[in-house]
Amino acid sequence: MSQSRLSAKIDKFVPSLTLSLKALAQERRDRELPIYDFGLGETRGELAPQIVEAATDAYREGRTQYGDPAGLAELRLAVLEWLGLTGRYGIDNVVVTTGAKQSLFNVFLALADPADCFLFDSAPWVSYQPLAVAAYAFPVMVASVEGTESRLKISGRDLERELRLRPQTKLFLLNNPCNPTGQLYSAPEVEDLLAVCVEHEVYFVLDRLYWQLVLDGGDYPAPRVDDETLPWLIQVDGLSKNFRRTGGLRIGWTVAPADVADAMANLQSHYTSGPSVPAQHAALAALTHPYDTEMRADIRRKAELMSSEAKKLPHVQVWPTVGAFYSFWDVRDCRGRRAPGGEVLANSADVAAYLLEVAGVITAPGEAFLQEGFLRLSITLADTELVAGVRAAAAALGRLR
Ligand code: PLP
Repeated sequence: MSQSRLSAKIDKFVPSLTLSLKALAQERRDRELPIYDFGLGETRGELAPQIVEAATDAYREGRTQYGDPAGLAELRLAVLEWLGLTGRYGIDNVVVTTGAKQSLFNVFLALADPADCFLFDSAPWVSYQPLAVAAYAFPVMVASVEGTESRLKISGRDLERELRLRPQTKLFLLNNPCNPTGQLYSAPEVEDLLAVCVEHEVYFVLDRLYWQLVLDGGDYPAPRVDDETLPWLIQVDGLSKNFRRTGGLRIGWTVAPADVADAMANLQSHYTSGPSVPAQHAALAALTHPYDTEMRADIRRKAELMSSEAKKLPHVQVWPTVGAFYSFWDVRDCRGRRAPGGEVLANSADVAAYLLEVAGVITAPGEAFLQEGFLRLSITLADTELVAGVRAAAAALGRLR
């Protein structure tokens, strides 16, 4: 059968590297060997009672008919309050979506003409590129001149250089705090990038999905919102990461200039008719109750636990987790080393496969984030499992020659 049965762009969707790791993990489970799952970028724990109640009430009371495609008005208002944006925006600037993923896809579809360039930071989250390609845009990663010195954070100068090379750029997307690196751009660093976008009349899309999880005790470095930045600023957020066990509720939202928000709502009115109404009621309950700061404290404790345990890892440098819930391991010194079976580990995908096969430690290889040489570990698993997993990894790495 010829290839032409499928769209040419499907070839650009690189299958997830984590799929082969899944098969290896299943094999270990079948043999009843231990598994330490640092792969899943998901919050765990108990769903808050007010969320359960709101969703249950919505079903009981039959609030299950079609809603406004842009989302429930009361939720859009709550989103503005949650993000501290009430003075500057109204509900016409807010679109509620099926997860932050759909927010991103809506933004991409609303802004891209074929072959427009989208710029991403230097360790882009796995789905940015496929979503850009699906919107017929051309994704480009902005490299950091300072590289690992800056823990892969890019500067306004890095962005400016890329913009000069690519005048057809439509948007720059920043994820802060960053999945996968667990790093945080400070307020001046965010301002630096925003100012470059405004100057070049390029949209600054901020994915702030982990914004409550700033672990250094500081406030979230929110972008400047004023007459100069308003036309170019788009903020994407959602329910999935800042609350416990909420990834599957599939609610996200975007705050954008009214013309962009209108375009997004129009688009999704045709392809989803808006997100699930009971799930929006659940989101409303989440946003209108006091924030569960214990969740942040839990993640901070896990980040500290990871930092102290990771000091014992041979051949690996571990970056402190400043935001979000990921630990980023620099495993470049493992490359070229031999496993006890004789095979040479050539790259971080090999290191990930080795750790899984020998120690049952599931990680996401850096290749998935265009950063070969690194591993991403999600630290939301139980403290005891986290410690046992890092120790199992240390033992396995100690056997490399
Ligand atoms: N953006 C980032 C940086 C993410 O890590 C994720 C999910 O892992 C998403 C967007 C998508 O979020 P959602 O599950 O709400 O669609």
